[in-house]
Amino acid sequence: MQPFIVKLNGLASGRTVFNWVADGKFFEQFGNPDILSAEVEVTATVVNHGATVDVECSMQGTVTVPCDRCLDDLELSVETGFSEVYTPEGADLDLSQDIYDYVCTALPLQRVHPEGECNPETIKFLSK
Ligand SMILES: [Zn+2]
Repeated sequence: MQPFIVKLNGLASGRTVFNWVADGKFFEQFGNPDILSAEVEVTATVVNHGATVDVECSMQGTVTVPCDRCLDDLELSVETGFSEVYTPEGADLDLSQDIYDYVCTALPLQRVHPEGECNPETIKFLSK
């Protein structure tokens, strides 16, 4: 089964829960150079009403980005989620774009190590 895609053909009416992991490759597909690696657990609760599909999605895990100050890896924890009502047009409901968007939105704008935890070599170099 492909992750992040809900196959509507044969989806039981009522509630189905999907568990996926969004890793570095997932973010790479969207061409985001800021995300070096990731390990985000995605839980999607899908309620099939036939004409519409309710999706409640929660994402929790870590995303690694370069630190704005020293460029070393910086691990950020993310915890976010969304709920949407979809009116599917095809046989598949692809949630990957929404999952990607919500995780990116949840990341802080300022991505720096806590004071004193930056790579001292880089900082020395940059302050020259
Ligand atoms: Zn840093």
